[in-house]
Amino acid sequence: MNQVKIGRFIAERRKNANLTQMQLAEKLNITDRAVSKWETGKSLPDASIMLELCDVLKITVNDLLSGEIVTMDNYSKETETNLLEILKQKQEADKRLLRMEFLAGIMASIPLAIGIVIGLFVPMEEWKQVVIVLSGMVPLLVAIPFLLRIEQVAGFYECRHCHHQYVPEYKSVFIAPHIGRTRYMKCPQCKKVSWQKKVLSKD
Ligand SMILES: [Zn+2]
Repeated sequence: MNQVKIGRFIAERRKNANLTQMQLAEKLNITDRAVSKWETGKSLPDASIMLELCDVLKITVNDLLSGEIVTMDNYSKETETNLLEILKQKQEADKRLLRMEFLAGIMASIPLAIGIVIGLFVPMEEWKQVVIVLSGMVPLLVAIPFLLRIEQVAGFYECRHCHHQYVPEYKSVFIAPHIGRTRYMKCPQCKKVSWQKKVLSKD
């Protein structure tokens, strides 16, 4: 997707509708700065606002993402290109999320590691050792729900029996035993329970 082209197209359609950036922003309940950022190609309209924006500009989402009015002749081709592009962007975002999860996981485990080392090697009363190790666990316990949430929504899990790829429920991710990112879960399609791999792309 060509952000600059999309921006120019938004500006053109907005002027056609006789709206200032401010007026368009008011209709969408956003700031005129956001509109200006779209029109200069610095950002894309949020998915949550796209339908409303297209409605105001009297275009389709497909037109918007193509940066021009898509004619019937190349409609399906443009749609396909846009969908592929969105998929690619999601994959990139998922990759970043998983990398972040990994780093956050390591950082949250450091206090626990330190607590265990101190507890083991520094002579002290037993209750103090317990307190130190337990308090070392706190950052990890706080982080785990967020880490699991990332694990749930980034990419997909693939069933090794029927190769169905899906985003599981948070609860299944939470209770499933795991080795790295591979989790022992029930496939929603074939209902078999097996070790399911994390994959980024859906084929
Ligand atoms: Zn399956």
